[in-house]
Amino acid sequence: MKNKLTIAVLSGKGGTGKTFVSVNLAASAKNATYLDCDVEEPNGHIFLKPVNIKTKEVFKTLPTFDKEKCIGCRKCIDFCRFNAIAFIKETPQVFNEICHSCGGCKFVCPVGAIGETTKCVGTIQSGTTNDINVVTGMLNLGEASGVKVISEVLKNSSDNNINIIDCPPGSACTVMESVQTADYCVLVVEPTIFGIHNFKMVYELVTLLGKPCGVVINKYTEEVNELTSFCSENNIEILTKIPYNKEIGQINAQGSLAYEKDKNTKNTFDNLLNKVIMEISK
Ligand code: SF4
Ligand code: SF4
Repeated sequence: MKNKLTIAVLSGKGGTGKTFVSVNLAASAKNATYLDCDVEEPNGHIFLKPVNIKTKEVFKTLPTFDKEKCIGCRKCIDFCRFNAIAFIKETPQVFNEICHSCGGCKFVCPVGAIGETTKCVGTIQSGTTNDINVVTGMLNLGEASGVKVISEVLKNSSDNNINIIDCPPGSACTVMESVQTADYCVLVVEPTIFGIHNFKMVYELVTLLGKPCGVVINKYTEEVNELTSFCSENNIEILTKIPYNKEIGQINAQGSLAYEKDKNTKNTFDNLLNKVIMEISK
């Protein structure tokens, strides 16, 4: 088995226990790197409590327009599939928050009227806790896309131990960016109607990307027929079922790591990690 293993933890929606699974998996893996790509609400550091934090700013590139050179052909506007450029007072202007920094508008401008500038869109905080490297991406308020911050977080992946990626919830392009390097995807789902609906979308995404995956059912109850039938019809491995537990809820609410406080949780995550490693080795 190769030394580097990358496990992405995903969920169809927020609040399903994705971060709970990610941080406890990282605790089980010990010599691990925890990469928090849930850049709009990065919470893993609250549980892992890293120290010796170093902060780095993340910048994105934005187009600038030279009024004197622009001939008003609108090729830049037609090209931008994100609709990030508008003609205002006879001059193209960019909406910084929705520009994805693809650089295409500069490429298509026939007269070289488009230049470049940079803007800070977020930060990366790196620290350690015991043997875990904790890397947290934080998107600045008002920014529409976390892709740039996520790609910077992923550059901190370790080449010789286990990487746990805490992905953004849902199935948007930020999730695609987060799982690109994953060897295996752990899909966390709560057995509610909304939870199952969103789970199917995220399952579709990882299948499209050709990633092997398995399911963790969080707050498990016996009434999960639709979810278990879907998994069985699609040959999706149910890796573990974590029943609702009030004490674990309290440990989480205090920002503590259940892996360290509760023996059953420790066993659950040690078994889960072993199962995932076995699945990757197949
Ligand atoms: S850099 Fe790309 S996304 Fe940004 S305005 Fe130009 S074409 Fe649109
Ligand atoms: S492509 Fe260049 S010349 Fe044409 S509108 Fe845009 S900036 Fe102006």
